Amino acid sequence: YSQGSLQDAENSLRELAALAETAGAVVLDGLLQRRPHPDPSTYLGSGKAQELKSIVAGLGADTVIADTELAPSQRRALEDVVKVKVIDRTAVILDIFSQHAKSREGKAQVELAQLEYLLPRLRGWGESMSRQAGGQVGGAGAGMGSRGPGETKIELDRRRIHTRMARLRKQIKEMKPARDAKRANRERNAVPSVAIAGYTNAGKSSLLNRLTRAGVLVENALFATLDATVRKSVTDDGRPFTYADTVGFVRNLPHQLVEAFRSTLEEVEDSDIIVHVVDGSHPDPAAQLATVRDVINEVDGRDIPEVVVFNKSDLIDESQRIVLAGLVPDAIFVSARTGAGIDDLRARIAELLPRPELELELLVP
Ligand code: GDP
Repeated sequence: YSQGSLQDAENSLRELAALAETAGAVVLDGLLQRRPHPDPSTYLGSGKAQELKSIVAGLGADTVIADTELAPSQRRALEDVVKVKVIDRTAVILDIFSQHAKSREGKAQVELAQLEYLLPRLRGWGESMSRQAGGQVGGAGAGMGSRGPGETKIELDRRRIHTRMARLRKQIKEMKPARDAKRANRERNAVPSVAIAGYTNAGKSSLLNRLTRAGVLVENALFATLDATVRKSVTDDGRPFTYADTVGFVRNLPHQLVEAFRSTLEEVEDSDIIVHVVDGSHPDPAAQLATVRDVINEVDGRDIPEVVVFNKSDLIDESQRIVLAGLVPDAIFVSARTGAGIDDLRARIAELLPRPELELELLVP
C-alpha cells in the first residue's frame, strides 16, 4: 500500500480475506508492504516478491490474491516469481457476483462486467512486442510479434468479446421495462423472506449461521421450490420464512462493477424485511450505514422494513455503544460470536414478518 494508514491497509486486507472466503477459498496468511509506488514490474518489488514466494512455498498455498487491480504484466511477472496462480481483488469480487446472480438481468450484468475485465487482459506477447517494436528505432526484431499467430488469435478473441458485449448490453436494455413492470405490481412472496445486507466482513454469514442454528428444524415440504442459496427458518409460533444472504458491500468497489453489484441485490428488492448488519466495532460505522441505505433505496428497497443490527457487540465498549445507539435508536446489538442478542433479533423479525392471509381473514369479524 502507498497511501493511507496502516490501519486502512489492514482493514482492506481483512475485507479481502472475507471476500476470498465468501468465494470459497481458505485463507492462510496475509502480507503487507508499504512503499511509495507499486513496483511497475512485479507490483511488490523483487525483494518482497521473493519473501512472498517463500511464504507461499512454506504454507503450500496454491493461489496469491493481490489487494489491488494488477496490470496484466504485473500479474504475469509475479506469477513467474511465486510459481502459483496470482489473481487480484476484482477477479475475486467478480467470482462472488457470478455465484450470486440469479435473474437473467443479473447474469447478463455480471457477464458484461467479466468481459470488460477480461478484455484488456487478453493482451499477450503479440501486443506488448509490437508496442515495443514501435518505440524502438530499427533493430533486427522490429515488428516481431505483431504479425504472428498470437496476435491474430487475440484479435479474433477480442472481436468476439466485443460482439458478445454489444449483445449483452442490448439484452439488458430490453429487460429493463419488464423489470419496472414487475416492480410496479410486486406481489409478496408466499413464504416471507428476510434479506441479510451489509458490508463484507460485517458478520453476515456468521449471523445467518447463528440465526438458522437457533431455529427449529423446518419441514422441507414447506420450501419445496426454493433454491439452495436460501436458508429456511421458522418463527417460535410456527410461521415459516426464509433468509437470503446478499452479496456484501465492498469498500472502493471498482467503477465497472457497480452495475453488476446492484443486479445481484435483487433478493433485497423482493424481500419482506431487510436485516442490515453493521460491524459495530468498525471505526466509521456511520458512513457504512449511509452507503448501504443509499443503495437499498436505489434498488427499490425503501419501503421494506429495515432492522439495523450492530454486530460484534463483544468488541464494543460502552462509549461506542452510546454512539451507535445515537445513530440508530432502535438498533439491536448482537454478537454472532457469543450469541448475545440473537433472541432479541429473532423476536424482532417474527414481529415484523407479514402474517399469512389466512390468519388475517380469521381476525376479521
Ligand atoms: P460477512 O463477510 O459479512 O459474511 O462476515 P463473516 O460472517 O464472514 O465474518 C467476518 C469476520 O468477522 C470473521 O472473521 C468472523 O469470525 C468475524 N465475526 C463475525 N461476527 C463476529 C462477532 O460477533 N464478534 C467478533 N469478535 N467477530 C465476529
